[in-house]
Amino acid sequence: MIKETLISQFQNRETPFYFYDMDILRKTISKIKAANTYGFHVHYAIKANANKEILTCLFDAGFGADCVSGNEISKAIQMGVQPSKIAFAGVGKTDKEIITALEAGIFSFNCESLPELQVIDELAGKLNKTAPVAIRINPNVDPKTHKFITTGLTENKFGFNHQDLTKLAALLKSLKNIQLTGIHFHIGSQITDIEVFKELSLKVNAFSDWFEEQGLKLEHINMGGGLGIDYQNPETNTFADFEAYFAAFHKHLKLKQGQELHVELGRSVVAQCGHLITRVLYLKEGQSKNFLITDAGMTELIRPMLYQAYHAISNLTSKQEEHAYDIVGPICESTDVFATNLWLSEAKRGDLLAIHSAGAYGEVMASQYNLRDLVTSCTSDNFRS
Ligand SMILES: *Cc1c(COP(=O)(O)O)cnc(C)c1O
Repeated sequence: MIKETLISQFQNRETPFYFYDMDILRKTISKIKAANTYGFHVHYAIKANANKEILTCLFDAGFGADCVSGNEISKAIQMGVQPSKIAFAGVGKTDKEIITALEAGIFSFNCESLPELQVIDELAGKLNKTAPVAIRINPNVDPKTHKFITTGLTENKFGFNHQDLTKLAALLKSLKNIQLTGIHFHIGSQITDIEVFKELSLKVNAFSDWFEEQGLKLEHINMGGGLGIDYQNPETNTFADFEAYFAAFHKHLKLKQGQELHVELGRSVVAQCGHLITRVLYLKEGQSKNFLITDAGMTELIRPMLYQAYHAISNLTSKQEEHAYDIVGPICESTDVFATNLWLSEAKRGDLLAIHSAGAYGEVMASQYNLRDLVTSCTSDNFRS
């Protein structure tokens, strides 16, 4: 999976660090493009990974940007994304962020509540602008993923609920500085059951009809992201099923005359190209367990601790008989555990381990807790093979 020639070059680099395999990223991009035979607009959700080389690759490929903060909008613009390809979501947009987006002239504010709509209208009025708004609706669809990354159930904080919609229609007609352009959905992440996207599409059709009945015209439908990847078998199943994902929308979503479809993929684009490379510091024999203590911890990759996420791990240095280990970081927290009872080639101090599928929601969530150095990264383009 990671070439031997690279592993020998890793030896000379200070650990821990993120390694991005640009070959995998480029292949993923090609697969997305090949699968999107329908002309859907694909945005990349910057929050999944904002590494400069990765963003360059994705924006050069023509993806739009899905942003969840003012700084992500600024970053996208700085990277050359046209404002007309930038969507802005989030339940807590600040005045400053809204002004940034208004001044940039973005494609769409994906608006999540009645009070937010009023604030955007007010700020747009002050700047003498009209804000293009898509209404994020919480469709109450169970994405069948982990509860910590579910966003589209009535109990979640995201989007408008069904009972707000009547009020919304009246408000939209009264606000002078808002132009309704679409509706938006994003029900969760790491969705691996494609049937979920069918179920979502059927609900979206009903919402779309409802808006039309109210005399509210929708230029676009934004289905969000959420497509999952195979964390168990990154090597044999490296790419998400983009064909099935796009086909589900093509088949089940009823677009009206002139309506365009947008999607916002994050994880499925960048997860598999990233590996966190860490060194074994100590082997510690416990009462009933063998601990492998690594120089990476939750400060570099927090997903296992935050979402109970699984990541495959391999020993890059040794190909010995496998043993069961608890792989733990150096941080002063009992939850600083990457894996329990994981079978791994017998390890010794100094061995390099790769924590796979770490390209999404990895480096972007790094912290300096315990006053540690912020994790660094490199890409395959930085190495000679
Ligand atoms: C995070 C996010 C995405 C991307 O989700 P993935 O699961 O990484 O594909 C898309 N849209 C919105 C609004 C988001 O918040």
